[in-house]
Amino acid sequence: MTKSLDFKSLALSARRDPGRPSTWTSYQDGLCEGCQALCCTLPVEVSLTDLTQLDLLTLEQSQLPYRQITRLLLERSVIEAAIENSRSFILRQTESGVCRYLGADRRCGVYDKRPEVCRTFPAIGPRPGFCPANPLKATPRKDRP
Ligand code: SF4
Repeated sequence: MTKSLDFKSLALSARRDPGRPSTWTSYQDGLCEGCQALCCTLPVEVSLTDLTQLDLLTLEQSQLPYRQITRLLLERSVIEAAIENSRSFILRQTESGVCRYLGADRRCGVYDKRPEVCRTFPAIGPRPGFCPANPLKATPRKDRP
């Protein structure tokens, strides 16, 4: 047995689940370094501004009535749901259940244009200040600066 083995953390790690914010870990600087972008497996809520920034809608299209935009985005399989109250949408995920922009290297393919919800996570999110990172299971990403 090593002195550094923390059984409490190991037990918590085994129970962490991106779909259950109650199992998430308290965010600290550096936590993303060893993570496999588990936050990018969560549903991504986007605004009209996000959609135009991502070139998924033209500026002209973003001026159409909300329901017409919803139809357009559903037809193109860009979204899986619309949230009428906030005039926002949920981006359709890939077959493997991750964000359409997450690369095979587990990096964001649209980092400079990423939606607001990605920029503010985890300060704002399902459980503010917490994220689904599972550092004990993660493989360190050597490609990071
Ligand atoms: S847009 Fe980028 S940061 Fe946001 S969920 Fe997708 S891959 Fe992750």
